[in-house]
Amino acid sequence: MIKAGILGGGQLGRMMLQCAANYPVETFVLESDPNAPAAHLCHRFIQGDINQYEDVYRFGKMVDVLTIEIEHVNLDALEQLEKEGVTIIPRTSTLKTIKNKISQKKFYSENQIPTSPYFITNSRDELSKHLDFLPAVHKTAEGGYDGKGVQSIHTEKDIQLGFDTPSVLEKKVEIDKEIAVLVAIGQQGETAVYSPVEMVFDDDLNLLSHQLCPAQLPEKIFWAVDAIAVNVVKKLNSPGLFAVELFTDNEGNVLVNEIAPRVHNSGHHTIEGHFSSQYDMLWRILLGYPLGNPDMILPSALVNIVGEKTAHGNVCYFGLNDVLGMDNVFVHLYGKKSVKPGRKMGHVTILSAEKQELLHRVRQIKQKLKAGSES
Ligand code: ADP
Repeated sequence: MIKAGILGGGQLGRMMLQCAANYPVETFVLESDPNAPAAHLCHRFIQGDINQYEDVYRFGKMVDVLTIEIEHVNLDALEQLEKEGVTIIPRTSTLKTIKNKISQKKFYSENQIPTSPYFITNSRDELSKHLDFLPAVHKTAEGGYDGKGVQSIHTEKDIQLGFDTPSVLEKKVEIDKEIAVLVAIGQQGETAVYSPVEMVFDDDLNLLSHQLCPAQLPEKIFWAVDAIAVNVVKKLNSPGLFAVELFTDNEGNVLVNEIAPRVHNSGHHTIEGHFSSQYDMLWRILLGYPLGNPDMILPSALVNIVGEKTAHGNVCYFGLNDVLGMDNVFVHLYGKKSVKPGRKMGHVTILSAEKQELLHRVRQIKQKLKAGSES
């Protein structure tokens, strides 16, 4: 039986493992926290640091094929393992391009991929050379995630907020919509693409409210998004499951923001909403089977369950009974024992052919279901 390793043991790893149970594969997870969401679902849990060369190298020698659920991993170890015959999906060279936002941006320019114009900065002081370029967004080359390491620089007085490390200064886009597209590439180069997903923001809270699939876009833009996403992933020259994040603006432009070289938060709805989920697709790629069918079964909405503002300590879910009583609503809890404000604890997928029904359910679920803490 093929031995497959996953670097990282969070919720993405957990959902990968739920799906792995359908395939002839022995699963291994490398993760520092023995109570992480994926820790109890794999065949072999190895406690270790995904950023340490030795830990990753030793782990890699136990498996035939290795993948990631987070991109902050030790790439030197992966490079060595690849030389020694371990299949790394996606390839280490592709992970290198993506892990660093400077090399990612350069990759877009070199391949004529539409993306917002940018400068590279090595120190905060260099920002003052680009006053004519403002408003812009400053992003650290390495180490950022979930909006950390991203800073808007509107005017000269914001320069002090910029980063004093190698970074990208990107022209601010007048965003109409934020879109994500999952693209799968098999080991023989075959491709499958999922319908674009739209992130819907809560304007009052300035937070992601929910996501919708398919994205509501004019037909021309819908197909431009699809074509650009497939094109950029093909250029990465590696098998894998990739999430392409894009912006559309009011002038009809479609720009690539960034790529995640792995299963992605924006693809959870594919578990119930599509014939082959992003997790199923990735196992097919890792194990060398034909790709699955990415087509949609029904339109969907997705609501993340995040820790309440006042939640600290042992998690307690409120409203689960109500939500589990709704038709075509699917609850996924990630098995995290402790909750913190804003921590991702789970998600809920809603399926319906009617957009109004999806939005109605989104409102109900956000009102009723809460991840609080024990009093
Ligand atoms: P992360 O990798 O931390 O998710 P992103 O590059 O996706 O960082 O940026 C986080 C958010 O910042 C995006 O979802 C978007 O709302 C905003 N943002 C990023 N780049 C730009 C840009 N060039 N113009 C306008 N807003 C942007």
